[in-house]
Order: sequence, then C-alpha cells, then structure tokens
Amino acid sequence: MENLTIEQVAENIWSFPVVLPQNPLKWLNCYVIKGLPGERNLLIDTGFRRPECRLALEEGMRQLDIDPEETDIFLTHLHSDHTGNAPALQEMGSRILISWIDLDILHSESWSRRKKRVLAEGMPEDVLKDVFEHNPAVLYAPPYFDAVRLMEGDTLDYGGYRLECLLTPGHTPGHMCLYAKEQRLMFLGDHVLFDITPNICNWEELEDALGAYLDSLRAIMKYDVQTALPGHRHCGEITLQARCETLLRHHERRLAEAEQVVRMNPGIQAYDTAGKMTWKIRSRNWEEFPPGQKWFAVGETLAHLDYLTLRGKVERYTDAEGKIHYRA
Ligand SMILES: [Zn+2]
Repeated sequence: MENLTIEQVAENIWSFPVVLPQNPLKWLNCYVIKGLPGERNLLIDTGFRRPECRLALEEGMRQLDIDPEETDIFLTHLHSDHTGNAPALQEMGSRILISWIDLDILHSESWSRRKKRVLAEGMPEDVLKDVFEHNPAVLYAPPYFDAVRLMEGDTLDYGGYRLECLLTPGHTPGHMCLYAKEQRLMFLGDHVLFDITPNICNWEELEDALGAYLDSLRAIMKYDVQTALPGHRHCGEITLQARCETLLRHHERRLAEAEQVVRMNPGIQAYDTAGKMTWKIRSRNWEEFPPGQKWFAVGETLAHLDYLTLRGKVERYTDAEGKIHYRA
C-alpha cells in the first residue's frame, strides 16, 4: 500500500483513491475533512465491501491519522462502491450519515422489484441470472446498516466548513451533494463526473429518473463552485458548469437515439433497444456484452424510455403475457 497517494484538495480537506478492481470506474475518491481541535472528522464514501477497497481505506485513514471513533461518514448515495465499507467503520465507532431516501431504499426490497421489471422488459432469465452473478453492486454490497437520515437543506459543520446537503436525485433517488458556500466548494458524489458519464438507470422508487437527473444538473449549475470534488476520477480543467452542459447535451443525443431505435422497430422491447444503442464498452455484439455491464446498459435504456414515454414521444404497451413493448 506504499503507493497510496494522499492529496490535499483544500484547507483541511484531503483525498485518496480507493481502487475498484476490474471496474470501469477504476477508483473511488475518498475525501476526508479533518475536524478542528475537539471536533469530529468527516469521511466521504468508502468503496466496495472487498478486501482491496478496505485496505486502501484503512491505509488512507492511517496516513491521515484519523480514528474511526472520531470520524463521521457521509455517504453521497446508496451504491455499493460508496457504501460498501461503511458498516465496518461503524462497528469501529464511526457514525454514518446518508439521505433518508437512499437509506429507505437500502432497507427495502428494491432489487426484487427491479428484477421483475427487467424480465418484463425482455431480459432473458438466464441473462438476468448471469448478470446477478457478476454484478459488483450486488456482490460487494454492504450488510444491513442504520444511519443518521439527512434531509435536503440540513447542514453539517466540519473543519471550518459549513456544508449544505443538496438533494440531487437521478443517479439514485436520494443522491446528495455537499456545498460549502463560503469556500465555493462542492462534493459531487456521482452526480457529475468529468471524464466518464454517470450512469442513470430506472428506479421503481423514482418514476422519471432521467427527468429528475436533468433537473438536478440544471439546479447544480446555478451554484458558484470553484472546487468541484467528484466521486470518481479527476476534473481536469473543465468547470462544473461546462461539464453539466456537456452532460445535458449527451442525454439529449441519447434520447434521440432511443426514440429512433423504437421508431425503426415498432413493438421492440427495452432489452433489445439496449442492444441497438451505441455503448463505449467494447464487445463484438450485444450477446457478448459483459454481463455485469449489461444490467447498467438496460437500466440506462429504461431511464431514457421512461422519459420518452412520460412525455408522449413513445408509447408503452403490455402484451397478453405481461411483456412490455414500445412503439413511436
Ligand atoms: Zn460511484
């Protein structure tokens, strides 16, 4: 672990990478705000529940000389690459904070509802089984945990920063960013990433996930941000506002593409629509698409089809066998 690089990103704020093995995201940025004397520290996001992530997390905390007992953990959202190790730190004395919406989903039967939907949307059962055997979100999920439930507008004080909790639904229904107005600094979680596009999937708990996401992008653009701190990778030279504009255009193009696929293939199912969309992941064809990534591709297609359906651009109908189809 000698090669773990700790970087200071602002006064009292450090970040270090938590490696995400065999994952296209490559690493998670774990952030630490060191508390002022007598104050607790805040650690933001924790990596998958797998040994490589746990090691990096412990090494980062060791190098920064912070003790779990004196540290609170803020989770930007429920995904396993952010929440995976939080319960282990909780056992060592940390306190966990997360939006009440994402905590409710973690405590619910969200997976079984999503599985039911993708089967109706055309994913073959054997593919679904394969997907779940390879889905890191399932394999490296945290065990059950309870936490302090944060609401929109709550404020957190650590290390001289007053952080406002901003609800930014889309990537997950209860995704939260933290904004320090005085220092013009924002922790973005996976709401805005800079050299990769955040995955936006359908949610049974959020009828119009993509619509909510685009609204959350427009909302975040209005904030005065000099230091943007994303959950994965780097920002480079791009401003938050410019990146939000690029992401808005990206989804406009994807919406047009999904609508076009449905128009050309009346009665198509969402699973086959995903197979006809363009993806950055290299594979010879849809059948050979890596199963772990197929789940995200179908989820993303569904988010776009939900958006188009709700706005009357495509029509959704269910056949006698309960299978869902689309036409434009
Ligand atoms: Zn993530």
